[in-house]
Amino acid sequence: MINRKLDSENIGKSNRRLVLQLLRKNLITTRRDLAAASGLNPSTVTKIIREFLVAGLCNEVSTEVTDRIGRKAIELRLNRKAYLSIVVDIGVEETSIGKGYFDGTTSIISSFKTPSTFEEFTKVLVENTGEIMKKIPKYKFLGYSISVPGMVDVEQSKIVYVPHLGWKDVFLKDSLSKRYPVVLDNEANLSLIAEKWNNPDLAGLGDIVFVYVSEGIGCGIMLGGQIHRGRDYSAGEIGHMTVQLDGPKCYCGNSGCWETFASSEAIVRKAQSSGLELKGSNNNERYLDILKNHEKSEYSFLIEEIEKSLAVGIVNIVNSLDPEVIVLGGVASMIPEEALKRLTGIVNSKVLYATGQNIEVRRSILDTHGKTSSNMIGAALHIIERRVDDFI
Ligand SMILES: [Zn+2]
Repeated sequence: MINRKLDSENIGKSNRRLVLQLLRKNLITTRRDLAAASGLNPSTVTKIIREFLVAGLCNEVSTEVTDRIGRKAIELRLNRKAYLSIVVDIGVEETSIGKGYFDGTTSIISSFKTPSTFEEFTKVLVENTGEIMKKIPKYKFLGYSISVPGMVDVEQSKIVYVPHLGWKDVFLKDSLSKRYPVVLDNEANLSLIAEKWNNPDLAGLGDIVFVYVSEGIGCGIMLGGQIHRGRDYSAGEIGHMTVQLDGPKCYCGNSGCWETFASSEAIVRKAQSSGLELKGSNNNERYLDILKNHEKSEYSFLIEEIEKSLAVGIVNIVNSLDPEVIVLGGVASMIPEEALKRLTGIVNSKVLYATGQNIEVRRSILDTHGKTSSNMIGAALHIIERRVDDFI
């Protein structure tokens, strides 16, 4: 008897989770469409929506839309402010903080230069998040969701290692909040989650590698629809794959890592050593300045360097993981169409015969800056996913 009760509770929960997922995906919809998309009985959908309306997860919107048999259909709209989170993008040079909304969008509220010591960083972070917390009603607050430019133990919410900043085995939970959840993930994994959620072209795909190019390079790996993290959470650290035994020294202590050739820092260093003056207050901005000037002849060697250096790593990813698609993100999501074509050409001329040599490399559809930065969006989605069972 008890088991039967538990079963029906679980079914009810999974139905509610499914309907909420569809609402969050479609933003504006109708009960009828939700029933069709979920395969649930219309009366079940009506009951669930009644609960959601009471809980404030969605609103009814009066509308002139009519369904097929001429009745007025009442539209439902997701309440994007039903639950809020504080999202943090820890960048090697700059950290941004904003609000994450229930539809997975974000807004950036403040930014600061990332201090290199963890103690100083947490101090500034707590000050900045405290200001934002004052404006969020407590009953709507989901917690803190943080994007980390390094390895993360997702279960323990522990930063395992950030090579660029030298942080090892540190927790943000203790200083940030004892009361609310603090969830963390790697920036490339979060970007992949965001891309998968927002890009309809990826909807049917399960094997995806998201290459996040910033001051370093991190990769989000999805295999069979699941993020692959590895035993010690270092699975996506393809930026530290050795591509030249005696190459430049890397932050990780090794030399000749892929990111010492293809990260924004590496490309900017190359530009500056040839005497080019670049606009921007950090390496990512300077990298974008190079891309903006791609048609000028004095920049062409840098565009070629970007194409070749990214292609080297992507060939190795394809030969190791054989994904359905490679998504270029971070600052590399802005590379010009022509450069992307040439890069894809290099990749396909070098990958193994078995891959069919028709690998698709595409740019992330999410901008790298401001409101729609991929890892921030991923952070907003991540905490909703982790907490969804608490409010359905
Ligand atoms: Zn390295």
